[in-house]
Amino acid sequence: MKSVQSKITTIVGAQWGDEGKGKITDFFAGKADYVVRFHGGNNAGHTVIVDGKVFKLHLIPSGVIYGDPLSVIGNGVVVDPKALINEIEYLKEKGINPRLIVSDRAHVIMPYHIALDSALSDHQKGLAAGSTNRGIAPVYADKMYRNGIRMIDLIEPDVFLEKLDKGFDFNKGLIENALGQSLNHTIEEIFKTYIDYGKILKPYISDVSVELFKAYKDGKNILFEGAQGMSLDVDHGIYPYTTSSNTAAGHISIGTGVSFKSVNRTIGVVKAYLSRVGESPLPTELEDETGDHIRENGGEYGTTTGRPRRIGWLDLVQVRQAVRVNGLTEIALTKLDVLNNIGELLVCNAYEVGGDEIYEIPASLTDYRNAKPVYEKLKGWGEIPENIWDKGFDKLPQEIKDYISFIEKRIDCRVTIVSVGPQRHETIIR
Ligand code: GDP
Repeated sequence: MKSVQSKITTIVGAQWGDEGKGKITDFFAGKADYVVRFHGGNNAGHTVIVDGKVFKLHLIPSGVIYGDPLSVIGNGVVVDPKALINEIEYLKEKGINPRLIVSDRAHVIMPYHIALDSALSDHQKGLAAGSTNRGIAPVYADKMYRNGIRMIDLIEPDVFLEKLDKGFDFNKGLIENALGQSLNHTIEEIFKTYIDYGKILKPYISDVSVELFKAYKDGKNILFEGAQGMSLDVDHGIYPYTTSSNTAAGHISIGTGVSFKSVNRTIGVVKAYLSRVGESPLPTELEDETGDHIRENGGEYGTTTGRPRRIGWLDLVQVRQAVRVNGLTEIALTKLDVLNNIGELLVCNAYEVGGDEIYEIPASLTDYRNAKPVYEKLKGWGEIPENIWDKGFDKLPQEIKDYISFIEKRIDCRVTIVSVGPQRHETIIR
């Protein structure tokens, strides 16, 4: 019988990713015993700034920067062992010896997945989100084909070779015969390299579900850290302009082996405007000076790719879906400072499609392509007062409080955390 109440919090992106989840996760990580990733791979990118020191992470949960919580990579994450080893080294160079476990069941990104990813980009012809070419879609596809290699296999050479034979042949065939490109790797070379990776990573490989179940029973605080965002969810997002995994909070069950029933708080991170990397229609896109101003002010360039992000006004049709699908209990609203001194702010509350106003994201790509944002205008604010984070929510400019209560009414979810700067302390809890 469970005798102590465990506290489980999930943090997910409510838009297109890059909402500032890293900062919000890091803010909570101080109280967490475990910080867990449950999906995606090193295609994600978090930036956390602590005491002026910048940390850029792609695979290890951002809670690692705290030192105390155990960082956990769940089975729903796909792991490039080389990227993981590099990230462990990067942290060590910055003075952090990561406390980390990686699921024995997590699938491994192989060199042929990365090669296939590049080959696929031509085949997709713009009808996909645009890939980071890290092998993410092919490794997830291989998992479903049951060609996959899991972390545990890297420390069992016989099974690894058996599976590698099958996966290598299949992917080589796809790359060379179906997509007309070449694979410049041999089985022997891959086998040797990956067995070496296995030796380095062996101390971290563990049964994450069992570990977290024990933690739950012991009343520990567990924080689940989502990557990307709602509209990139492979099922609920703007398919096929999505990522290859489920970004929704419900995926923590599958991606870590912890029951969704155990989660107490689910926080959706919403940026006060939106940004998007890669292809897809974007109803509220700003292709003007205001967009350029927001991009520069907000530093909207990809953490992983360095690509300039597309910019748009806040889209509450999108956030409404995030509230519903994730079961959000609250919102963390970030980057309000980026909208300083803009004057008038527009917020999209509905789309107009074929003469009708719609309030939910359509499944029809035709409707989404034709969606015209229905805006409401709000008064902007000037500068946010110095040290506002010490003074509290009530001391925010009235226009910001109006902006927040407008959002809350339209999406029926409370904003409990307000972020007004990139640093850890520039955060207001309501
Ligand atoms: P994530 O993937 O959701 O963690 O987002 P990114 O790390 O890609 O992007 C967030 C960026 O915005 C990082 O550089 C953060 O340091 C920064 N950031 C987060 N919150 C705020 C904020 O409230 N204001 C400003 N100006 N920057 C912020």
